[in-house]
Amino acid sequence: WTDGTAAQAEGSMSELAALAETAGSEVLDALVQRRDKPDAATYIGSGKANELREVIVANGADTVICDGELTPGQLTALEKVVKVKVIDRTALILDIFAQHATSREGKAQVALAQMEYMLPRLRGWGESMSRQAGGRAGSNGGVGLRGPGETKIETDRRRIRERMAKLRREIKDMKKARDTKRARRVDNRVPSVAIVGYTNAGKSSLLNSLTDAGVLVQDALFATLDPTTRRAQLEDGREYVLTDTVGFVRHLPTQLVEAFRSTLEEVTGADLLLHVVDGADPLPEEQIKAVREVVTDVLRETDTPAPQELLVVNKIDAADALTLTQLRGLLPGALFVSAHTGEGIDVLRARLGEILGRLDIEVSVLLP
Ligand code: GDP
Repeated sequence: WTDGTAAQAEGSMSELAALAETAGSEVLDALVQRRDKPDAATYIGSGKANELREVIVANGADTVICDGELTPGQLTALEKVVKVKVIDRTALILDIFAQHATSREGKAQVALAQMEYMLPRLRGWGESMSRQAGGRAGSNGGVGLRGPGETKIETDRRRIRERMAKLRREIKDMKKARDTKRARRVDNRVPSVAIVGYTNAGKSSLLNSLTDAGVLVQDALFATLDPTTRRAQLEDGREYVLTDTVGFVRHLPTQLVEAFRSTLEEVTGADLLLHVVDGADPLPEEQIKAVREVVTDVLRETDTPAPQELLVVNKIDAADALTLTQLRGLLPGALFVSAHTGEGIDVLRARLGEILGRLDIEVSVLLP
């Protein structure tokens, strides 16, 4: 469903398809329903839902992914008509985050976000489970697990809330450990560079070009979820640390905003922000703006002065000449590179040396 223009709908749908493929699905077909607002009952309306059912029968799909966030009632009602599993954009993105998180902190944050998403959607599930068990909610099962007078659904909710509280405590502790590590880096005066940028701009690839880290590079949204910190060397042999932060994406589920921000806090200890821009994108200004807004927010919240920013336009091998000329005019201070061909990487190294050299850092102590 969309209330936007055809172009907006198409952009959002092709990103949704890319997300679905990232999650391991094969995309068979796409349907757009244009309305002023979503249908209260089935999200897309019963006529469109029946049409969707026919498409499903024709191509043998086993899942419907809706580009938005559906209420629990809409999900159930739509499933009844289309007779296959229905998920929404939020659930899909949460699923991808869950698949890709590798650090303990990343995993804990995704689990917390998933529970937050699940909690209000528990009712239908809990009630039908109780019905299946053959009685009124609260009259069977779970003996000894329930608090006095609690129904099954209440017990489930309470357990999830307890688990969420525990996760929040764990995340807080892990954050403290990360802060300490960062503070030690500052004490040791190891210069640090944080790479920021939109998802798929080529942050991991640049990190690889500047170090020999062998970080996972994927042509998929969300390949980078956990901050990766690596050591690298300046031309004069001095060491610095380079951190790859999470990428940005449109319509980030609200449940994940917190997780996103906390991984972005890596920028607060940085001496320099290396802002990577996808030169192959025809309109990168929006992305640049979005990235800067979030970074500024995080810095303001943590009361840290903004580090210097170095804009790096990547993928110049894939960008057309006209776009590049326009970008050069638009972003006079930016460097133009290709992580793939290596073009411009030497100039980038030299510039990093210059900027970090001005920081008056005499020692080059390595991280433990
Ligand atoms: P990240 O999400 O910002 O970390 O981006 P990645 O480093 O994972 O790269 C995203 C995609 O862009 C991958 O398919 C890369 O192979 C591709 N890519 C990265 N750098 C370049 C480049 O300089 N030129 C071209 N043509 N593709 C690139």
